[in-house]
Amino acid sequence: MALLIRGGRGGMAVLPPYAPPTGSASSFRLQFSSRHHHLSRSVLPFPNPDLDFFLSKKQKLRTRSRASIFAMAYEKELSVAKKAASLAAQLCKKVQKSLLQSDVQSKTDKSPVTIADYGSQALVSFVLQQELPSEPFSLVAEEDSSDLRKDNAQEVLARITNLVNETLSNDQSYGMSPLTTEGVLTSIDKGKSEGGPHGRHWVLDPIDGTKGFLRGDQYAIALALLEEGRVVLGVLACPNLSLNIIGRHDQLPLENEVGCLFSASIGSGTEMQPLDIPGAKKVEVCPIGDPAEASFFESFEAAHSMQDLTGSIAKKLGVQAPPVRIDSQAKYGALARGDGAIYLRFPHQGYREKIWDHAAGSIVVTEAGGVVTDAAGNPLDFSRGRYLDLDTGIIATNRKLMPLLLDAVQAAVKEKAASASSL
Ligand code: AMP
Ligand code: MG
Repeated sequence: MALLIRGGRGGMAVLPPYAPPTGSASSFRLQFSSRHHHLSRSVLPFPNPDLDFFLSKKQKLRTRSRASIFAMAYEKELSVAKKAASLAAQLCKKVQKSLLQSDVQSKTDKSPVTIADYGSQALVSFVLQQELPSEPFSLVAEEDSSDLRKDNAQEVLARITNLVNETLSNDQSYGMSPLTTEGVLTSIDKGKSEGGPHGRHWVLDPIDGTKGFLRGDQYAIALALLEEGRVVLGVLACPNLSLNIIGRHDQLPLENEVGCLFSASIGSGTEMQPLDIPGAKKVEVCPIGDPAEASFFESFEAAHSMQDLTGSIAKKLGVQAPPVRIDSQAKYGALARGDGAIYLRFPHQGYREKIWDHAAGSIVVTEAGGVVTDAAGNPLDFSRGRYLDLDTGIIATNRKLMPLLLDAVQAAVKEKAASASSL
């Protein structure tokens, strides 16, 4: 297996897949690789922090200068994405504050959908189109307007439209009531794109972690841009995430100011700033190499990740701390700034991961120096449409811990399979 990367003067370099600096996960990868052969020809962006390990000094220098070119290439898009996600966060905060039971609707999969989901999607879609008018617009997003077009949804639609217009009017650029109800429906439905390996596609989860949102807990507005199938920028607005470290049991609690905006573009690192306040600072993943010092993040909802399996992985790895369970891609944000060292996500069998649940989070972590892979150690492939083609789980950590983590995952998955077949 090898990965092709664009390198140097546009040539291609051939590298092995994620290769650990120490130890080996290769036996594991061989066992898991048959279902992932399509990934062996993935074209990874260059520069890519995951690949730094393989490069000579000269190549690294060349990489750095290409990095600044990449950063400049996405400057405008990143600033628009931050603005769109911040406005959507304002809208969501307002709704969460006054959340009424009647705002909760039911989709066929029974997951709760609130007026904030629709409002956030309409708003982000509108802002991207307004601010980047010269581009063909493609958006892969979670919601569509079919329920809102039903006769009994008129009132909800009017409330969503008011909310979107109110939020936009707080920003000087848009005037008083830029959107009609039909404009809201059209903006939402722009999110029906299928994505894919060619061209540019925005990827949006208007409220990631709806269950956390309804509980008054963590949620995120997650927005990313794909270019030729690769994530090139990502923004996570996390209105309820503390600006201080979370999940570390050895820290004294500080004053709990909340609201974080994470942003990353390819080759230029990850930054975090308080929501709606300028002053972004670079963040990096936790550098530890000893699993005994690590803590790990996982879903708050047991239905979203097999907590027995993640517990067994953590035990095999020698993690001492209990899991830190929070909703949404806020986990990727917290990981990117080093609050914990590991993120484990193992959905129950049959669940298909959607690209909007990981696109922004994964670049926020990789640009902070982390590694995000599926359970077999392969990079996530965002080029295959609305779904990620994997079902074995997603793991994220720093480069030192990844080989150990892959070994622990292999052992725990094998053990679980063996105990299931012996029943
Ligand atoms: P988290 O808050 O990290 O547990 O993940 C939230 C996301 O999980 C939601 O935005 C959903 O798209 C997704 N999700 C919904 N149902 C499931 C499920 N059964 N297993 C895994 N993830 C799910
Ligand atoms: Mg989601």
